[in-house]
Formats: sequence, structure tokens, C-alpha cells
Amino acid sequence: MVLRVDPQDTIAAIATPYGESGIGIVRISGPEAAPIAENIFRPRRGAPQLCSHQIRYGEVIDPKGGETIDEVLLTFMAAPRTYTRQDIVEISCHGGFWPLKRILELVLRQGAREALPGEFTKRAFLSGRIDLTQAEAVLDIIQARTDEGLRLAEEQLRGGLTKEIAGLRERLVGLLVPIEAFIDFSEEEEDKPPLGAVTAGLRGALATIERLIAAHEEGEPYRDGVRAAIVGKANAGKSSLLNRLLERERAIVTAIPGTTTDVIEEALNLSGVLIRLMDMAGLREPRNEVEQEGVRLARERLAESHLIILVMDRSRPLDEEDRAIFRAVAARGKPVVPVLNKVDIPPYLAETALIRETGWSHPYPISALTGEGIEEMKRGMVQAIIAGRLKQGEGELIPVNLRHKLVLERARDVLDKILVNRQQEELPWDLTAIEIRRALAILGEIVGETTPEEVLDTIFSQFCIGK
Ligand code: GDP
Repeated sequence: MVLRVDPQDTIAAIATPYGESGIGIVRISGPEAAPIAENIFRPRRGAPQLCSHQIRYGEVIDPKGGETIDEVLLTFMAAPRTYTRQDIVEISCHGGFWPLKRILELVLRQGAREALPGEFTKRAFLSGRIDLTQAEAVLDIIQARTDEGLRLAEEQLRGGLTKEIAGLRERLVGLLVPIEAFIDFSEEEEDKPPLGAVTAGLRGALATIERLIAAHEEGEPYRDGVRAAIVGKANAGKSSLLNRLLERERAIVTAIPGTTTDVIEEALNLSGVLIRLMDMAGLREPRNEVEQEGVRLARERLAESHLIILVMDRSRPLDEEDRAIFRAVAARGKPVVPVLNKVDIPPYLAETALIRETGWSHPYPISALTGEGIEEMKRGMVQAIIAGRLKQGEGELIPVNLRHKLVLERARDVLDKILVNRQQEELPWDLTAIEIRRALAILGEIVGETTPEEVLDTIFSQFCIGK
């Protein structure tokens, strides 16, 4: 929808959130931005003409009746040194619904059109100021839920992925040159492209693509949060711990074993990492249909989790159910945060016996009931995440979202097929060239050069109006 509107008309929108605030901004972009602003703006001092990249103080006036709407600061930025590469005017007025609404209405009455969601950023993309990965990064920055998510989005905005894709495409173009020269100018045997070098080049490109696909998985905890599963036998205190970590009542806490039959998920921000906590039904054998569903879901979530919080009840002896859970957890080979709950009541389990039995050193003694030991346990969670290489991995993390990953997989399949067919001597050089060009076009979708319009529409429609 957004693409099919004229990118040359003048658009306007409120660029700040609705609600009461110190200031609010109405943004205008397009060739009519300056004349529209001059019609409704009266500077306190100086000539009415606007100068580029200067802030003016004055009032917004309704040109019809001369009524003053608000006291404002007005910034005019002439093309092309602007976000959209068009003329832009930003009117900073008092925050709050009415001043913003009335100024926007005035601007629209002067001939501007109300911007669609993401249309300013779309213009930045269409004008070539940013590529598609950077436009997506703008969206990620707006929607970032943690410091780490923000850091990754900012890396993308700086062009982290763009550089990788450019390098990859350069390498493929380098392979194409001798192949196309041979097809176009020569039929001589000795001018044949060097098969070994082409194969090695394709393998190198494939390795880069595989590394980028893997980067998608690595970045997942930053984008979508670390999935932490809280497991332990019924009544160990999982729901109480979840509530304690979240500091509010979410899961229903009861003394009847097996009440958490569903998986409850809540988000927690720990040192800038989003942790998605999942309270699981016990991993024991289900006794009825409702439990069966809960247990199935719990096993699935355990497989998907990045981190396991294992809750043990220190006031009771270990039993077979505990041991079955230990085995299930150990089998996953994921970072584990072992906790010994209920330290506020007399212990039954000795820590040393437990360490001997499970092999997990340093369990965190806590009381989900009183809150004792919870802060140390939270620090332990962050450390386990770091130790699990979820954080501070080797080298800089390259931001690869799901869309990028799916495109990369398609490019990988094309290159894979060329290699297989060439090995079987079935692929003539002209077809090899066509296939390499196809891979290049697919990779172009990532940065937005060859992206289908529907995909662009979907991406920009996720933005808010005014961005
Ligand atoms: P879940 O089945 O593992 O989710 O366990 P719950 O969180 O429902 O807790 C089971 C029972 O243990 C409830 O009666 C809780 O009040 C109690 N409980 C949980 N944590 C503690 C704790 O640290 N100390 C004590 N004394 N009781 C606790």
C-alpha cells in the first residue's frame, strides 16, 4: 500500500507518542514542506523565510482567522541533507493531544497528506539514503525491549549486515567475470574458466552464508529474549519463584501438586538481557489428560530453552521424580542454574549430598517465600548466560533477522545446486553464470535492491505513523 502512493507529494504526521508530554513534534516531508510551514509560522524575530538547518522560535497561526495555536520551535532542513532526502520541517510544540492535533490539521489543510505508517523511513529507503536492513533496524530500535536488543539493532543501522552482503556479492561477481568472458568471447578450450578456482570461490561464499544463517540463531536471545525454563518437581516452589522473580502474582500458587499444568511465560529484564521465564508443569508422568498436555508442552519448551533453572525443595528428601528430572535436564546439555528452595524452613537435604548426586556445584540457596538469596540467584542467571556464550560471544554479533535468514537459505540452495551439478559435469558454463546471477539477485533482496513490493509493504506497515 505504502509503495503505491506518490513519493513526491508532501506528507505530514505527528512524530511523537500521543499523551501528555513536555514537547511534541509534527513532521513534514516533501517539496511543499517549507511553503506550508511559512504559511502557518510567524517567527518572533527576523524575516519569515526559513533557512536550512536552523531552529526558529515563534508561533503557529491559523492563516484563516489569525488565531495563535501554540508557541513553537521550528526546524527546516533542506534536501538532500535530511532523513528522507527531501525538504523536512519539524515543528516542536507543547506535548499533549490538542496542540499536536490542531497543528497537524493546519498542515494538512495547507495541502500536505497524512503520512502512512513508516512512510518517512520508506522515503529514506527509496531515496537510497538507507538500505532495507537499515530501515528494518530503525524499526528494531523503536521496538527494542532491552539494551542488548538495542545494541544489535544499532549495529544493523550502522550497516553490519549490509557490509557482509556486499562482500559476498563482490565475491560472486568476481567468479562471474571469467565465466562470462569465456561465454561471450571465446570457445577455446584453453580459455575455459578455472574450474578449481570457481569451485573454491563458491565454497567460500557458501561458508559465509552458513555463518550468517548461524548468526541468526546466535542473535535470537538478544532479539527475542533468553528463554529460561523453570523446572523441578511439583511443589518445589517453581510458581512461587516465578512470582518472586517478577515481584508480582502471576502464576497461581497452591499447595496441591500438579496445578501448573500450562506453561506460563513472563518477561524479565536482567542486566539488559530480556529473560523469558517459563514455569513448567512437572516433568513427571502425567496422570490425566490436562496434565498430559502440560507435560508435553513442558518437554517441548525445555528443548527450546536457552537456560534451565532447576528448583529443588531443600526441606524434603530427594526421590525418583527428582532424579528423573535431573536426568532430563542433564541430557539437554544447556546452562543450568540449580537452586535450593525453602531455606526459611529446616533443611532435610545437605548441599554436599546434592552436589554429589547431581554434579551441579554451587546451587543457590533461596527462599521464594521470603526473597532470601534471590539477588544472588539473578546474578547467577546472568553469569550462566554469559558462560553459555549467549552473551559476549566471540567477535561481533552480526544482526540477521528471520527475513534475512530465509533469503540466505534460498541463496545457499542455489549455490549448493551449482556445486553439485558442476561436480557431476552436468552444468554448462552459461547455465552456471545464470545460476550465480540468480543467487546475486536473491541476496539483493536482503538490502532491498530486488525485494518484491509485497515484502516492502509488510516491512513498512509495521512502523508507527510519523516514523
Ligand atoms: P510448584 O508446584 O513447584 O510451582 O510450587 P509452588 O510455587 O506452587 O509452591 C508449593 C508450595 O510450597 C506452596 O505452598 C508454597 O507456598 C510453598 N513454598 C514455595 N516456596 C517456598 C519457600 O521458599 N519456603 C517455604 N516455606 N514454602 C515455600
